[in-house]
Amino acid sequence: MKSIRNFAIISHVDHGKSTLADRFLEITNTIDTRKMRSQFLDSMDLEREKGITIKLKPVRMKYSLNGKLYILNLIDTPGHVDFSYEVSRSLAACEGAVLLVDATCGIQAQTVSNLHKARLLNLKIIPAINKIDSHLAKIDQTKENMKALFGFTENEIHLISGKEGTNVENLLNSVVKEVPPPSDTDNAPFRALIFDSFYDTHLGVVANVKVVDGSLTNAREQSKIRFYHSGCVSNISDLGYFIPKMKSSPSLGCGEVGFIATGLKDINLVRVGDTVTLESEFEKNKIEPLSGYRKPKPVVFLSLFPTRSMDFDSLKKALGKLKLNDSALSFSAENAGSLGLGFRCGFLGLLHAEITQERLEREYGVSVFAATPSVSYKIILKDKRALYINSAGDFPNPSQIEIISEPYSKVTIFTPFSYVGRVMELCDKKRAVYKAMETLGNNGFSSVQITYEIPLLELISGFYDELKSISSGYASLDYELTGYKEVNVVCMDILLASEKVHALSRLVRKEDAFVIGRNLVKKLKELLPKEQFAVSIQAAIGNKIIARETLSAAKKNVLEGIYGGHRERKDKLLDRQREGKKRLKRFGRVSLPQTIFWELMK
Ligand code: GDP
Ligand code: MG
Repeated sequence: MKSIRNFAIISHVDHGKSTLADRFLEITNTIDTRKMRSQFLDSMDLEREKGITIKLKPVRMKYSLNGKLYILNLIDTPGHVDFSYEVSRSLAACEGAVLLVDATCGIQAQTVSNLHKARLLNLKIIPAINKIDSHLAKIDQTKENMKALFGFTENEIHLISGKEGTNVENLLNSVVKEVPPPSDTDNAPFRALIFDSFYDTHLGVVANVKVVDGSLTNAREQSKIRFYHSGCVSNISDLGYFIPKMKSSPSLGCGEVGFIATGLKDINLVRVGDTVTLESEFEKNKIEPLSGYRKPKPVVFLSLFPTRSMDFDSLKKALGKLKLNDSALSFSAENAGSLGLGFRCGFLGLLHAEITQERLEREYGVSVFAATPSVSYKIILKDKRALYINSAGDFPNPSQIEIISEPYSKVTIFTPFSYVGRVMELCDKKRAVYKAMETLGNNGFSSVQITYEIPLLELISGFYDELKSISSGYASLDYELTGYKEVNVVCMDILLASEKVHALSRLVRKEDAFVIGRNLVKKLKELLPKEQFAVSIQAAIGNKIIARETLSAAKKNVLEGIYGGHRERKDKLLDRQREGKKRLKRFGRVSLPQTIFWELMK
């Protein structure tokens, strides 16, 4: 155990984690140089393309220093805010972390939030400034800011280039020397922390774990393990670690990082953050769970529809397959009337939603259309029952409602000083409430940290893209959910020829309803093909019409083909047309092409 070092690399997106991990794999000869490709630990194509790490992959490396052999477990972490809970669980499996800061853009939002998480867990932090080879690197300023902001000393900050390998070996030596070994609790009853899990077609659900107390051996293969929070009891079908391929091992000792294969089919039973115990000891010793467990909770909701309706079954299957490996994804079938059948899906954030959509198209060949993101409103009814709803279809009768509230989050924005004004303008526009501002660093590289409280709905409706565009890509953000605040939300319906179109109903804030309603009916008027009869387009809240447009009838010249002829004959034809239109108006159905819905939902 004395020779084990469990560590992670933490940084903001794109600061060079995966590239640095590659160098570590090379220095320790973990991967044959012939097989080496860049960002080795990013297993999905999508990750390589987007340059982000979604699924963390732990890897065991052997490394000799001063004649002693060490086992290094590197746990790469996802760098995006959507996955901050996963990051915190990965960090909980470590004793130390390399804090990587890109010298070309300095400290960013997730640098701070990830460092904060690591410090809360008492990890030994080894700071490093990356990309010193770049001609854009501002090494001194970055260093000054790291000292001023985080309290690091001049000597402990490593200056490296992950790309060229400069000083990377030194950094790895510091990991060995400075990160403490895991604590020695080999005699305590077995407990392991799950920091990731995945589904394998042959092995079933596999838990990536760090053994916190005691040990697990294959000799006890017959014995069963229990997952504390899910309450599931399962066999152990295999044990081992990653190099980075899975390699079986007869045991997993105290402090080690590895995997336990369960043969289970449902990933929801093996959740990130849960504690693994031995069933035999669980009964005897009243074992306590490890702290920090949280159930994954979707915060962004989208309706996904297959672009070809016959793909509904394929979409269902594909979502089911993705769900096997993604316990944070939730979905339920939804019938959106004219829009057809689709699925209401819950995601951890917009990136999670985007990745899921792309995977559906790429890996399963199902092309999908996604309707506007929404959040989950909390509704307290008059009879004191609480509901959480995320679609207009579930909106209760307004007379039963006591209070509606919407989710809020605290958003921390990092921006270079010159963009502060525009950032604040954006926040104002998005109903954000100013909380605090702090200037970091006082040289030409100073940035500002601004904290706001913002409705989650505004945050997920294009906030991030707008922030990036007004700051030329320099500002970054991090957010966490804080709670609910009262909001006056109503259900706005759209009526076509006096008939409610359920799929077009939406939840809107009352003060926005008039504007949204007016725009919507206008847009519908432009988009709808003309019918033989005039069609009224109305927006309504309950029985109250708040906006109205009329789509005039398509003109068909019934007099065509009549040359000269009698006046009476013409009148008769026109009369007949008028009658027909009246009839149509009463009985005719307005046809709604699917593409119109898509236009409106965007
Ligand atoms: P991650 O998102 O933190 O995993 O970052 P990556 O390792 O994927 O790197 C992001 C980008 O920075 C890639 O284009 C890398 O080639 C580049 N990069 C990484 N390390 C260095 C470095 O030391 N120097 C330079 N110039 N570029 C680097
Ligand atoms: Mg990466």
